[in-house]
Amino acid sequence: MSGPDVVVVGAGMAGLTCAREIATGGADVLLLDRGTVGGQVSTVDAIRNAPGHPVPIAGYDLGALLMEQAEAAGAAVALADVTAVVPDGDRYRLHADGGAEFGATAVVLAGGSVRRRLGVPGEQQLTGRGVTRCASCDGPLLRDLDVVVVGGGDSAMDEAAVLAGYANRVLIVHHGPVPTARDELVARTAALPNVTFRAGAGVVAVDGADRVRSVVVRDLGTGAETEEPADGLLVQIGLEPDTGWLADLVRRDGTGRLVVDEDLTTSRPGIVAAGDLRTGSAALLTDSAADGGTAARTVLRHLARRPRWG
Ligand SMILES: Cc1cc2nc3c(=O)[nH]c(=O)nc-3n(C[C@H](O)[C@H](O)[C@H](O)COP(=O)(O)OP(=O)(O)OC[C@H]3O[C@@H](n4cnc5c(N)ncnc54)[C@H](O)[C@@H]3O)c2cc1C
Repeated sequence: MSGPDVVVVGAGMAGLTCAREIATGGADVLLLDRGTVGGQVSTVDAIRNAPGHPVPIAGYDLGALLMEQAEAAGAAVALADVTAVVPDGDRYRLHADGGAEFGATAVVLAGGSVRRRLGVPGEQQLTGRGVTRCASCDGPLLRDLDVVVVGGGDSAMDEAAVLAGYANRVLIVHHGPVPTARDELVARTAALPNVTFRAGAGVVAVDGADRVRSVVVRDLGTGAETEEPADGLLVQIGLEPDTGWLADLVRRDGTGRLVVDEDLTTSRPGIVAAGDLRTGSAALLTDSAADGGTAARTVLRHLARRPRWG
């Protein structure tokens, strides 16, 4: 099957940087994503640690700029949800939703992470009907309403603060005794008059017929359950690598992350991993960008497009 030299799966920071560097190195590269340019940060209002941006930049703006740069370097970008990578002689075949197929000599896996779900009754059915994954996208729909946020880390604090700008009341529910977020984020969110924090508790159900009406909160010490009237629920309890669809194509560690060597090659030659989904990733934008560069150099070497000392 003909196709580009390289297919990069995932248009987050790692994939976009990698595609740009591969194209700059002179190889044909196709970047595929199932629908989010910029990856995880595409819904984040303010990124404060993006190099070269003394004023915080919004994730959706950063994603668009990275894509512009990748395309300007010559990378092709297409929409596709990749469901399998299959070895095909010394090349690979990629299958995507809807029956699309792509062939490539090398593949970069840059699929990042997805948010963990609570896995409680009502969560799945009411997603998009009050259960939200994005404070800045859905905040306006929750104006003057009551919202519950589950989580205690940096992202939970950030998202609660964004929601507080719209909602009547934001209740943060966290299983631990204190938030695990950085002190400055906790202080900023705690200073908001319409935000309250409940420690040692978890959400065990989401109720409502056509949209969220309440959530059931369990005290993890006593087991007592209370029904909290709520119009929205945002779950921010961490991330997990988006690698389940790869089955046994490449080696994974116990957390599902892809095992790589120092040049980011996986257990299969010609398949490289970059960004959050690989073992040892710091799960930060700058690290994903660095991975993008390393992965590109590895791929270019694999294609023998670089001088031996490159
Ligand atoms: C709410 C939040 C705020 C954050 N804020 C910051 C911050 O301020 N600073 C910072 O440094 N880091 C921040 N991070 C962490 C940072 O976002 C990640 O470390 C970084 O985005 C990882 O980039 P990535 O390219 O590895 O993966 P991702 O950003 O996860 O991108 C992966 C892409 O791959 C696509 N994809 C996955 N599987 C497939 C498939 N099978 N087929 C097609 N496409 C696929 C996804 O749609 C996605 O677009 C934040 C994370 C979150 C969740």
